Amino acid sequence: MQIYHTYGELLAKVEKTGQSVQVLGHAPDGSPVVAVRAGGDKLPAIFISAGSHSTEHAGVSAAVELIEQLHTDHQVYVIPTRDPVGLGGYAHALSLGLGETPVLDSFAQVEEILRREGEVLYEDEGRLLALVGDYGYASNRPGTHTHDAQWGFYLKLQELQKTRPEVLAPLRGRRLYMTPAQAGVEGTGDLGRAYTLIISLEGEVLHLNRFHDTLWAPVESRVTRQLLARIRPGISFDIHESQLMGDHYWLSARHQKNPEDEAWEQRAARATIQAIAEVGATLAEDGDVLGGVPIEQTWFRKSEKGVYWLDANLRGEGLNLMDFASRIYGMAFGTEMGMYGSFAHRVRLGMLTVQSAVKVFEERYQ
Ligand SMILES: [Zn+2]
Repeated sequence: MQIYHTYGELLAKVEKTGQSVQVLGHAPDGSPVVAVRAGGDKLPAIFISAGSHSTEHAGVSAAVELIEQLHTDHQVYVIPTRDPVGLGGYAHALSLGLGETPVLDSFAQVEEILRREGEVLYEDEGRLLALVGDYGYASNRPGTHTHDAQWGFYLKLQELQKTRPEVLAPLRGRRLYMTPAQAGVEGTGDLGRAYTLIISLEGEVLHLNRFHDTLWAPVESRVTRQLLARIRPGISFDIHESQLMGDHYWLSARHQKNPEDEAWEQRAARATIQAIAEVGATLAEDGDVLGGVPIEQTWFRKSEKGVYWLDANLRGEGLNLMDFASRIYGMAFGTEMGMYGSFAHRVRLGMLTVQSAVKVFEERYQ
């Protein structure tokens, strides 16, 4: 249950598995975005990914563990993280704009650097938004706005896009790195990761789990799409976590392109949520899913306790990775583990999700 503080540590661990590692492309800091080939030779393939939201680090650790701990005859491809830059932490992300890596221990230091080296685009109590070089940076002091400070700033940016689009205009087509401000979260903390946002050319505030169906796409999304086209997975997983619900868990299923696939998705969802409940995890309530928004006002529909089906048509913002995989390739699941649970427990739930659903997938192809 390793926590990877740098991407180099993760790559070293992946190399140690002895499995073949394929470089798919390179992130803006030059880091390779990699896929690891594990499992057997049977088709269709299984695809596992995590880390497009770098603050959700237990998903990344679970994906790495599964390279060795998903026992199956099927081919397995794992992209352990889709955001090497964000995993490396806020100081690392800031090095892209600064040209050198600063030493950062506090929000005061972050703010001081952004003011001195950058062009300040927006500020209010505790929040600062600046452009440094070709990159945007957001600093968000914890305590000023609630424990889910990062989510709060994200909503603020969406509001700015609607009410004062000129504020975000200099960031169009750029990456914007946010401080996590999650002091109580093992593996993330206040500055231990950088949450990557992408401001689209049209000004939408998006992130690395978007751009799976668009002509313009950041490299991390583009190379993931290329891998999927090559391996055509019969089942796909994207392991996420949520800052909105303590230590609760829910499974995110996707409707399928034909009734047979839909029935298998339903069956795998049921088996998975039962396995999760059996290890004593607390399953989410409707209010957990989107920070208290009534479920009927969201783009999620519940089939049973802890299982929510995402409808990307209701949400907008294009397709996330599992939306895309379900429309083109087959069964697809996302997880959401509450990131205020213990790190080991969160990793275990991520792994158990994949292991449980894959058992049903294997039955299908016996
Ligand atoms: Zn996520």
